[in-house]
Amino acid sequence: MSEPLRLMCVHAHPDDESSKGAATMAKYVDAGHEVLVVSCTGGERGDILNPRLQHDVHILRDLAQVRRDEMARAQEILGVGHTWLGFVDSGLPEGDPLPPLPDGCFALEPLEVTTEALVREIRRFRPHVVTTYDENGGYPHPDHIMCHDVSVAAFAAAGDPARFPEAGAPWQPLKLYYNQTFNRARIEAFHEALTALGEESPYAEWLERWDRDERPVTTRVQCADWYDRRDAALLAHATQVDPDGTWFKVPREVQARVWPVEEYELAASYVPYADIEDDLFAGLPPTTAEADALATSGDLQLAHDTRTERAA
Ligand SMILES: [Zn+2]
Repeated sequence: MSEPLRLMCVHAHPDDESSKGAATMAKYVDAGHEVLVVSCTGGERGDILNPRLQHDVHILRDLAQVRRDEMARAQEILGVGHTWLGFVDSGLPEGDPLPPLPDGCFALEPLEVTTEALVREIRRFRPHVVTTYDENGGYPHPDHIMCHDVSVAAFAAAGDPARFPEAGAPWQPLKLYYNQTFNRARIEAFHEALTALGEESPYAEWLERWDRDERPVTTRVQCADWYDRRDAALLAHATQVDPDGTWFKVPREVQARVWPVEEYELAASYVPYADIEDDLFAGLPPTTAEADALATSGDLQLAHDTRTERAA
């Protein structure tokens, strides 16, 4: 085993960490690494997606508190650290035309404000690797897009002593990844596996109206042995997950057979990048001390950079 390294996973809402990269995180925790989940918002404007809990008055009275409790349980299951960035859920605007975003929500915060908050967390936790979403948010929720924007901005600012000098000592994370858990190939594999078993597939319709861009996958982390932990963490977000829903239709052993990996897109790296990786820490120095020294050297050159400006 390599020496302990630090991974920060930035997510928009509590429950996103359990549906995007959770098995990877549990695997790294078990290998002795430190993993910190940052939830940008409290998920205050989420709907109750579990039909069994939809009319529960105790939940309706204080959904924000319920979601904090759910997050604490998921954190415990995954064995990760967790911090709230402290911003307020923007909600998913629906309708035509779309209604305006609510005052004071995360997606309307000035980027300088959200960036400083994340820079502070980066300089405190000192991650060697950061994960977030791609410039489309992975899915078009305004908080997911802001999650991308703030992560990219903080990745660029955290190592710069001229930026946010009051937010801690400079620290440059060495790699930045985008979660690419929800790709067409994976959904197709599940669809075909269910069909081959003679089961009804809930994915047919979804595949028919699939309109997401294909993203490059650079990194596949083998993590099927941690799918039980991932599912338990996801179910801990009881208000956000329908236990009879799509995600639990594919038996875990089938998932382990047809799709034993979680996938990532490398967006920026200050360490050498080998074409197809199986480890988010690939290319980093072998010791913690050397990796720390690199992150504070103040003299780093990008070895890989595919970050793009988001279309306005
Ligand atoms: Zn979300």
